[in-house]
Amino acid sequence: MVHSEAAAAADVLVAGAGPVGLTAAAELRRRGISCRIVDRLPARLPYAKAVGIQPRTLEIWDRMGFVRAALEAAVPMRGQLAYMNGVEQFRLDLVLPPEVPYRFAALPQYETERIIEEFLEGFGTRVERGTELVSFVQDADAVTCRLTTPGGEEEVRTRFLVGCDGAHSTVRKGLGLAFEGGAFPEEYMLADVEVDWDLPYGYGVRAMHRDDRGAVDDLLVCIPLPGDRRYRVSMLVPPELSTAPPQGGDAVAHGLEGGRVPELGHVQAVLDRLSPQPTRASALRWSSVFRISHRLVDRYGEGRVFVAGDAAHIHPPTGAQGMNTGIQDAWNLAWKLALTLEGA
Ligand SMILES: Cc1cc2nc3c(=O)[nH]c(=O)nc-3n(C[C@H](O)[C@H](O)[C@H](O)COP(=O)(O)OP(=O)(O)OC[C@H]3O[C@@H](n4cnc5c(N)ncnc54)[C@H](O)[C@@H]3O)c2cc1C
Repeated sequence: MVHSEAAAAADVLVAGAGPVGLTAAAELRRRGISCRIVDRLPARLPYAKAVGIQPRTLEIWDRMGFVRAALEAAVPMRGQLAYMNGVEQFRLDLVLPPEVPYRFAALPQYETERIIEEFLEGFGTRVERGTELVSFVQDADAVTCRLTTPGGEEEVRTRFLVGCDGAHSTVRKGLGLAFEGGAFPEEYMLADVEVDWDLPYGYGVRAMHRDDRGAVDDLLVCIPLPGDRRYRVSMLVPPELSTAPPQGGDAVAHGLEGGRVPELGHVQAVLDRLSPQPTRASALRWSSVFRISHRLVDRYGEGRVFVAGDAAHIHPPTGAQGMNTGIQDAWNLAWKLALTLEGA
């Protein structure tokens, strides 16, 4: 076991370098607070889970100092086109009052993470990858955290621990927080593809089918991505890719699942049934199956240990709440921790 000297200098340890952990670390470093950020994965994931960026998130990025980089990489989200059984239901234009400084934007999560990580590196802080928070204990003055790193085990004493370690959070479980809620029964798939329709640029497309009893039995949601007619398309999984929910573990069925990889043919079959215009999908960049749940902690922390983002609350993707509210948690917590550490 290594007792890290460098760790002694870090006032805050952030566990998890998704968009929420990166935001917490970046805001702390921007305010001059010493901080380490660790992630158990060896590299950033290439997936566009969160794409929809809320105006409030852009306001926060403006305050932090990297909104320009984000807007340059993003697609402006102009609105949504909605169809039911092939008939247009409405065209929603996302018009906001003039006093709101930013509009909605679409930015794939891997780009959001890249931009925040590069901003963080500008303060000399790098994500320590392949490094997992395994356990922690706190006393009146500090939190003692046990990490596994590529070089072996390490014990770190830090003034505060922030758990941004996602839906299956080690920090949440270590604090014994309740995570009430449930899982939606449906199983979905998503893919990053190009299409050749001529629907207006910057609009999301939602197409559904209702059966004779009025129940929705087919679904297609397309969110624009940077690129020429590139979209993240989400849909119900076909029976041949469907499996029973995972058993055991922490019973939180949420997020992307490995094992089954939808192919272009699976996506094309749904487009053939639901696309408002005949279209051909191509250039599949990645695809996955996912499940969704809704859960919320009973408290956001205890003593010197906090949770933020998916570690604290998980949502359906509709409405783009998960990452956006998580970033807002992390920013809010980070400036308060910074003031506390400065003795304000
Ligand atoms: C299909 C889909 C679409 C979505 N669309 C949107 C959207 O449009 N807008 C939106 O706002 N949200 C959306 N979301 C939700 C969004 O992706 C999540 O809310 C967001 O990823 C949460 O970020 P996070 O940093 O809290 O957690 P995560 O992104 O899960 O990151 C947690 C990190 O912690 C690391 N980690 C875990 N345990 C440990 C440990 N013990 N030690 C060290 N590291 C650890 C993991 O490796 C991971 O990198 C969507 C989700 C899905 C599945």
